[in-house]
Amino acid sequence: MTEPLPNILDLTLAELKNALASMGEPQYRAAQIHQWLFSHRAGDFEAMSTLGVALRRKLAEAFVIQTPVTVSHQECTEEACGNPTEKLLLKLYDGELVETVLIRAAGRLTACVSSQAGCAFGCAFCATGKTGLKRNLTAGEMTAQVYALNDIATTRDPLEKITNIVFMGMGEPLMNTDNVIEAIETLTSRNYRFSLSRKKITISTVGVIPEIRRLAACGMKTKLAVSLHSANQEKRETLMPVAARNYPLGELRKALADYTAKTGMPVTLVYMLLDGINDSAEDAKTLARFAHGFLCKINLIDYNSIINIKFKPVNSAVRDRFQQYLQDSGLHVTVRKSYGTSINAACGQLAASAVRHPEPQ
Ligand code: SF4
Repeated sequence: MTEPLPNILDLTLAELKNALASMGEPQYRAAQIHQWLFSHRAGDFEAMSTLGVALRRKLAEAFVIQTPVTVSHQECTEEACGNPTEKLLLKLYDGELVETVLIRAAGRLTACVSSQAGCAFGCAFCATGKTGLKRNLTAGEMTAQVYALNDIATTRDPLEKITNIVFMGMGEPLMNTDNVIEAIETLTSRNYRFSLSRKKITISTVGVIPEIRRLAACGMKTKLAVSLHSANQEKRETLMPVAARNYPLGELRKALADYTAKTGMPVTLVYMLLDGINDSAEDAKTLARFAHGFLCKINLIDYNSIINIKFKPVNSAVRDRFQQYLQDSGLHVTVRKSYGTSINAACGQLAASAVRHPEPQ
């Protein structure tokens, strides 16, 4: 049986250069092809009119161009959702499924992007963590999510486009840093039709310390959010066992302080309030102690109930008290509303379940 041809969209720019070199082609062709693929989004090699016929033929013999296929498209039906949240289930070339979410809020149109199919971290409150890790996504598979969501927006209104991107979907972006960086480089390329400022992009991590240090050193200038959920080591280990044990709070705090000192950019500490678990006065005090002394803000979010996972959200009085304590301690605190709960598109709910999303006939 003949092997299927590789998907050219899965190659990084450097890999594309190497592939062209092995075909005896000059390296500058790689930038041209990359632009055809990611700016013009060419669906076949024939469309690449700035390339000679011979090169187009060579490419077609060596590669395919295969974008993820949309299996389902759901819209949030919550009454509270004045502007709908939408979720796409995408099927990748090897049959893996990932979800990606479009969030309309506060004048922004945010693409929430998955970086892995599944996740190895197994956080107790997260649906993705229940599936285990299947594989890292390629940079092309991440840019494809943004383009698919942007197409939805611009089809409805040609003046609308994605204004923000958060790597906060399925998976841990900093376990796939190279591809995430490659995707960001493509999505922020000024010469491409779709281009965002790096300041509009947030990488959300459970706190992978070596990669946080690497981000600080590489000068990416994207925003960084850290899912903290408890500033007590023991408690955090029960919520996020793998992350908390591998990246202890003391070392994480030091890495975040170094990150902000180096980049001059604040870090967002994301804290999901869970009823009776991390919502006490003592928890607020411990969090305040953790957050003092470096540039950060705290983002309190509500828990979204997921089938089979036994946590409950806090009531608004508890949330208000928690927030007030932090503010009285001099910290910058925001409360983030959760969007898309009814279509399992909210934080911690993405699981790409084919059962929930039967394929169209
Ligand atoms: S919260 Fe993030 S890191 Fe934890 S299991 Fe879910 S996707 Fe993985």
